[in-house]
Amino acid sequence: MSEFQKPKNKLEFEKNFEQIKPQMNETQAYYESSRCLFCYDAPCVTACPTHIDIPLFIRQINSGNITGAAKTIFESNYFGNTCGKVCPTNVLCEGSCVYNLQEVKVIEIGRLQTFASSKVISEKIKLFSPGVPNGKKVAVIGAGPAGVSCACELRSKGYEVEIFEAKEKPSGLSLYGVAPYKITNEEALKEIDYLQEQFDFKINYNIQVTSEEQFNDLEKKFDAIFLGIGLGETSSIKIKGEELENCIGAVEFISELRINQHNTKIGKKVIVLGGGNTAMDAASESARLGAEKVILSFRRSVNNLRAYDFEYDLAKSAGVEGMFNVSPVEITGNGKVEGVKFIKTKVVNGKMENIPGSEFIEVCDMVIKATGQTKQVSILKNIKGLNTDEQGRVIADKITFQSGNPKYFAAGDVYNGGVEVVNAVAEAKLAANGIDKWLSS
Ligand code: SF4
Repeated sequence: MSEFQKPKNKLEFEKNFEQIKPQMNETQAYYESSRCLFCYDAPCVTACPTHIDIPLFIRQINSGNITGAAKTIFESNYFGNTCGKVCPTNVLCEGSCVYNLQEVKVIEIGRLQTFASSKVISEKIKLFSPGVPNGKKVAVIGAGPAGVSCACELRSKGYEVEIFEAKEKPSGLSLYGVAPYKITNEEALKEIDYLQEQFDFKINYNIQVTSEEQFNDLEKKFDAIFLGIGLGETSSIKIKGEELENCIGAVEFISELRINQHNTKIGKKVIVLGGGNTAMDAASESARLGAEKVILSFRRSVNNLRAYDFEYDLAKSAGVEGMFNVSPVEITGNGKVEGVKFIKTKVVNGKMENIPGSEFIEVCDMVIKATGQTKQVSILKNIKGLNTDEQGRVIADKITFQSGNPKYFAAGDVYNGGVEVVNAVAEAKLAANGIDKWLSS
């Protein structure tokens, strides 16, 4: 049973969606940074996809050089503030901290990172400038973490950069796809404003680049094109009743929640289908929006959840109940969702099988499908020479991120199929270097 009341206003919404990594004050940051052992060959650095020099920035915080710490962070990761908050630090940097071996509380690297980076953002401290113009122009499609990281790196090398964004606001997943208790809208947008101030790149909003003509047009105007278009809508699970009112995809639900906040529609009893991190977010968010009961259903056992353990623990702490070894066969209802018909499953010789005759209906008034996202194959096929793999991901060089069409580079979810924000940021920086190498040769 969820303990949250339906939030009626912004204040109540913020309370229900309280930040799970709250901002540190100076005393906390000083104390926490003083615990770091400043390890040589620090495992936390190796575990970070952007390889931020973590012991260096922690030492800088400890010596009171917060601006220097922020510079160390942003030099490796342009989304230093966002990543400090939304990264699964428990399994990346903090998960590798040497204190894990001593059963001592690990260093709160994510919160320290946010402490330093948010300070320079809010004080608008100038750390970077665009490079000397080199006369070359690059189009970036998508103003999410991949697109903006690529733009920053290219601007630092003197390229003129124009971003084309389909939505009316930037930030991509950090604004539209991450749970609000991980980062607020204001924080996500402020980081983009800060980066735009530092690097001076242009973003064109509400422009969807999808057709062959549009790509041809960009090819004529720009020397290279970077694709940071992410993934598409929630995939269909191809069962009866998906079209019913109050049956919604998790991606669409989270996006609506980020924008409409306390005004987001929620059922009294919600069933979330899926076992990944997005399912955990959607379930936890449903409970925090005031759903009286939230059930997370998964085809396999709890041990087979694809989500990180801490994400499932977080959902449980919000009142979410798990229902395992059940597979949805139909969403029932007459116009609107009235329940989900499940069949029980079992594993035989490593393979999941339905148990004949075990169907039952679980009554509910809302279903959220967290069943993966479609790939943007219909858009990508309009680019000549660009190929996708059997899973719809752009095939590109692992080092330069150059695709089969040499003018196009791709990184982030459209390339990796959907990993973390930090992976998109890391790849996009490498892609910018790939573009630079190609255009300079
Ligand atoms: Fe500090 Fe832990 Fe990294 Fe060592 S592993 S440098 S103690 S944060």
